[in-house]
Amino acid sequence: MPETTFITDPEELETLLELPEPVDRLAAAALPLRIPRELAKRIGKGDPNDPILLQFRPSARENDSPPGFGADPLKEWSGPATGETFPAGLLWKYAGRVLVMTRGVCAAHCRFCFRRHLPPAAPLDWGEIAAFLERNRSVGELILSGGDPLGMPTEELDLALHYIKGLSFVKWVRIHTRHPILAPSLLAPDLIPRLKEVEKSGKRFLFVFHINHPAELTPAAARAVGLLRRAGFPLFSQTVLLRGVNDRTETLAELLTRAFEAGIVPYYLHQLDRVAGAAHFEVPVEEGRRIVARLRALLPGYLVPRYVREIPGAPSKIPLEPAPTD
Ligand code: SF4
Repeated sequence: MPETTFITDPEELETLLELPEPVDRLAAAALPLRIPRELAKRIGKGDPNDPILLQFRPSARENDSPPGFGADPLKEWSGPATGETFPAGLLWKYAGRVLVMTRGVCAAHCRFCFRRHLPPAAPLDWGEIAAFLERNRSVGELILSGGDPLGMPTEELDLALHYIKGLSFVKWVRIHTRHPILAPSLLAPDLIPRLKEVEKSGKRFLFVFHINHPAELTPAAARAVGLLRRAGFPLFSQTVLLRGVNDRTETLAELLTRAFEAGIVPYYLHQLDRVAGAAHFEVPVEEGRRIVARLRALLPGYLVPRYVREIPGAPSKIPLEPAPTD
C-alpha cells in the first residue's frame, strides 16, 4: 500500500484544504493524522465543519477527557482476567462468533475510534488462532475487524485465508472494513478471486462497511462496492452516530438511501463508545432515539438500521429503541 496515497503531515493538510484552524499537534501525536488523498478531495476547502474533515482531523478537543470516557471503553484489553486464555488479537464476546482484531492498516484514522488507545501488539499468530478455534467448534462465524482486514499485507491476508479455509465448522467470515469506501482505488484486483477460492470450502464471506456520511459514497466507492456486490457477497453498513457529522435525520436518510442504491443493506447505527478523546462526538441517547424515530417515519423499515450500544460483558449489543415521534 503506497504511503504516498495518504496525507499524514498536518502541515500539508492545512495548506491543501486552506484550513482556518491548525491541526492540533498534541492530538496528532496521540493518534497520527491519516486520510487518503482521494477522500481529501471531497473535503470543502476552508470549511472547518466539513463532515469528512471532522472525522479525521486531529482536534484540540481530543485532549479533554471528561469523566465516563476511558482508554478501553468496551474493556477489550484492560478488563479483569477471566481465567480463559485467548490467542492474541482474538475477542470472544458473543456466542457462536469470535472477532479477530487484525493489525491491518486503516484507510484513515477515525478520531472517535474506540480502539484508538489499543496498545501495540505482536503480529497475529494465525496458526494459534486456528488451533484455538478447532478446540471451540461452536464458533460458526469469524469476524475480521480493525485495524482494517483489507489493510493487511497480501501475505498476511493469504496466511489468514489459508487457516480459515481449513476450519470446516466456520460457515461465515465477516469482514469489517472502511477501505472500499474511503480508499476504493486500493481494492486489490485479485481480492475477489482469493475470497472465492476460500468459499469453495463451503464458507461465505460478507462485508460490513463502516460509513458515516453520504459524501463518503463517492462514485469510485460505489464502483468498488459494485464489484463486491456483483461477486455475490452480502453487504451491510454500520454507522457511528457522530455530533456534527451525521446527527441529522436527513443526513442519515440520504446516507442509508444512497448506500442501499449501491447494494448495501443498513445494519447498525452505533451509539458512540465512550473512548477518551472522542467526547465531543457524542450525541445523547435520547437525541439519538428522536433521530431514529424520525428516520422510521421517513424511510421504509428495511432502510432503518438497528440503533444499538455496546456494554462490556453483555451477551449481545443493546438495542436503543426509538422514542415516539415528537
Ligand atoms: S477504520 Fe475502524 S479500526 Fe480503523 S481507525 Fe477507523 S474506526 Fe478505528
